[in-house]
Amino acid sequence: MDPAVIHTSYLINLASDDEKIAAGSVRLLRKELEVAAAGEIRYVNTHLGSYGTRPRHEGFANACRLLENALDGIPPGVELVLENSAGAGQLCGGTLDELGDFIKTLGHPQLGICIDTAHAWAAGYEINTQRGVDGFLYEAAEKIGLDRIRMFHFNDTQVPLGGNRDRHYHIGEGNIGFEGFRALAARPELHDRTAILETPGDDADDIRNMQTIRAIFKGVGAAV
Ligand SMILES: [Zn+2]
Repeated sequence: MDPAVIHTSYLINLASDDEKIAAGSVRLLRKELEVAAAGEIRYVNTHLGSYGTRPRHEGFANACRLLENALDGIPPGVELVLENSAGAGQLCGGTLDELGDFIKTLGHPQLGICIDTAHAWAAGYEINTQRGVDGFLYEAAEKIGLDRIRMFHFNDTQVPLGGNRDRHYHIGEGNIGFEGFRALAARPELHDRTAILETPGDDADDIRNMQTIRAIFKGVGAAV
């Protein structure tokens, strides 16, 4: 299976204002990067966490220091991939601006971004139409660089646009719908990216969601 991905523990909170949690998070992250290298796993995908009670700019600077520490000595062949959040309250990484700021501030070649479609929608990005997806990717190209988007989490969601809640739903059956996923699938420059489904339910749901996403990609002429 290639590429394989490690999804880090939800205990990781790189934005945390609690010294202990922040230090523990970076230790855990460094460990995951080593495990990935040992297992020849290409991507370590992590959430950024929440700033807690602290002003965003302070939290951002601290998260950068921790990420710098994690990236310092990152083994070759492994990439650290930061995931966008649903953008609630003090959550870190809900906007393309903020994700782009991490990429620019850290300037590390082994740092990438993961776009979770359900989180993007919940954060207010209207990716349910061709026009909306084009606008989103235009902004992502400007602020992050499309080459830095290494991975997608394809999830639909029933949360209202900008609802800031992290709830995943079956592909094509939520607010992003077929049109949104079709528009994403239609972009040839993204075809070699890794995509992961994190949809809910049992094995039968997983099979249905896999079939749906494959049909969407085939429908736009992409190899899957
Ligand atoms: Zn995700």
